[in-house]
Parts: sequence; structure tokens; C-alpha cells
Amino acid sequence: MRYTEFGKTGWKTSALGFGAMNLPGVPLEQARETLHYALDQGINYIDTAAGYRNSEEILGECISGRRDEYFLATKTNKRDYASAKEEIERSLKRMKTDRIDLLQIHYVNYPDEMKKIMSEDGAYRAALEMKEKGYVRFIGITGHRPELLARWIQKWQFDQVLFHLSLVQPFALDELIPAATRLGMGKTAMKPLSGGFVQPVEKAIRYPYSQDVHTTISGMVSIDEVKMNLAAMEREVEAEERAELEQLAGDLSVHDCRRCNYCSCPVGIAIPDVMISSVIRDKLGLLPKGMAFFEKNKEKILACAEHEPCRDTPLCEQKCPYQLPMQRVIQEAASFYG
Ligand code: SF4
Ligand code: SF4
Repeated sequence: MRYTEFGKTGWKTSALGFGAMNLPGVPLEQARETLHYALDQGINYIDTAAGYRNSEEILGECISGRRDEYFLATKTNKRDYASAKEEIERSLKRMKTDRIDLLQIHYVNYPDEMKKIMSEDGAYRAALEMKEKGYVRFIGITGHRPELLARWIQKWQFDQVLFHLSLVQPFALDELIPAATRLGMGKTAMKPLSGGFVQPVEKAIRYPYSQDVHTTISGMVSIDEVKMNLAAMEREVEAEERAELEQLAGDLSVHDCRRCNYCSCPVGIAIPDVMISSVIRDKLGLLPKGMAFFEKNKEKILACAEHEPCRDTPLCEQKCPYQLPMQRVIQEAASFYG
């Protein structure tokens, strides 16, 4: 396993980070053995969030006894001072720890939200205050719009940034990662499998591993999944393979969707999932998760063509900051059903 200095934190982080988001979905004993196995294998970066159901409590229950062995990152999605402070205090209690190594302001996608967070009454002041008291060691930010994150990290002081980086979402490479590198920040990539749609799995994990990031968090819920992720990072990525992966990422990201979720569909179509999985389906075929997604959403996807209010001007397209042709993509996706 590769270990690198995580920005200016002084921590040497493992290239594979443990994403704890899905642990609430498995029995506690399975979560416990998976976490201990990951630590035993040298994974030393654990990522969760106050909003991931009882994930923080599971970490507290299962591994707080090994607290010095991992860098603990959590998140608050509160925007104002008082509720962010309350949530950080709750996270400390739930994770049975006296310090959070990294407190990330979670899922910031709109300029107005950022303004609120950085205002006198904003969440950033709560994080800073907790840092001054020693309960938080570093402050980071996460979001789904890499070009906005690139702007914000240059304007305000953050120690780390968390972003999508996968074969279907390589967009952080354009401005965000170079900016974070210049600033000496910790760089955390997330969702290498983009929720389970991307394949082949080994290439999907090796892609962020081949790029200029310190750690990639992968959601894991079993020892087998930890083994699979570790195996994909067993050897370094040489130049030829990196070029192949970059070519594949170029092919798989032609949908241009950032998963920012600015769009919403009155019919209930999960637009980013359709956009992204359609490209994978056309180029590589779908994994079982993708097949199940298309089966489950058949009626909704077919309903797009008939939705009267979108006939002249698609409602979703008016909200997309990237002016993407979602209606056309959704209707083309409907051809899957014959
Ligand atoms: S065009 Fe289709 S996907 Fe877009 S909002 Fe209308 S029904 Fe939903
Ligand atoms: S289609 Fe546009 S608005 Fe919707 S998630 Fe993708 S980038 Fe965002």
C-alpha cells in the first residue's frame, strides 16, 4: 500500500481510505470485522458523515479502542453556526473520541450556500471554534461541482478537499486538483465505482490511484470488498496503463454530468444515474446493479417522452448549470427496453 503525506496535516495516509457510509446497512458484527480487518491491513483513513444514518456510532462502537491507528474524517451538512456546532459535538460523542481529525463542510454545491457557511453566523465559524479548542484538527470541504470548489479553496482557508474522481467523473482533474496541489491541501477522491455502475471494477479503482490524489475512499462493508480494493492497489500504475485509463475516462465521461443534482424531474427520473449509466451501457455493458437500475426505473424512463409540461421546454434542462441535453439522453435511454 502506498502512503503519502496528507497535505499539511502531518499524517501519512494510506492510498485506500475506508468509506463508512454503507456500514449501517449490514449487521454490526459484520461492520466490526470489516473495520478491524481494514485497520489490520494498514488502511488508516476512515471517512464518514453525521448524515450517514448511524455510521458514526458504528465507528465509535467498533474501533474507538484503536483510535490512534486512523485518521478520522467526518462531515457536517449544517450551514449555520449553532446547528453545525451542535452536530460536531454530537459527532464527537457518537464516535467516542475527543478529536475529529478532519471536519468537512459537506456537500456544498451552490454559491449562496457557501456564502452562508462563510458568514459570521455560518458553519465555518463553528468548525474553526472547535479547531481552536482542539476538538477538530483540520477543516475540509466537499461538493459535486469541481470548478466551484476550485474557486472556493483559493478564496478561503481549507486544509482538505473531497471530490468525485472516477472513470465516469474525471472532472476534478481540470482545475480542482491542480489548485489543491498548489495550495498544499489534502486531496481525497471519492466514489471510484460511482455508486456501483462503473466497470471493470479493478480499472475503476486503479484510475484515481493513478492520479494526483492522496487517498481514495471506497465504500466497503465486507472483508471481501476490502480485499478486492486492496488487490487493485497492489502494484503502482505505470505510464502506459495511466494513459489507457485516461483514455477510458475520456470515453466514459462524455455525458458531462457532474452529479450536482441541480436538476430534478417531476416524474422522478434519477437523471444523473441515467446519464452516466447510459454511457457505460453503450460502451461496456452493465453490471448487475446497472441492469437492476434500468429494470426498476423502466416506467419512469419511458414516461419522459409523454410528459406534457416538458414538451416545449424540458423542465430539467432549465436547471442544469452545464446546459446538458438531458431530455434527449433520457429518451434515448428508453430504447434499452426495445
Ligand atoms: S424532460 Fe424528461 S427527464 Fe427532464 S424533467 Fe421532463 S420528464 Fe423529467
Ligand atoms: S444533468 Fe446537469 S444538473 Fe443534473 S446532475 Fe448532471 S450536471 Fe447536474
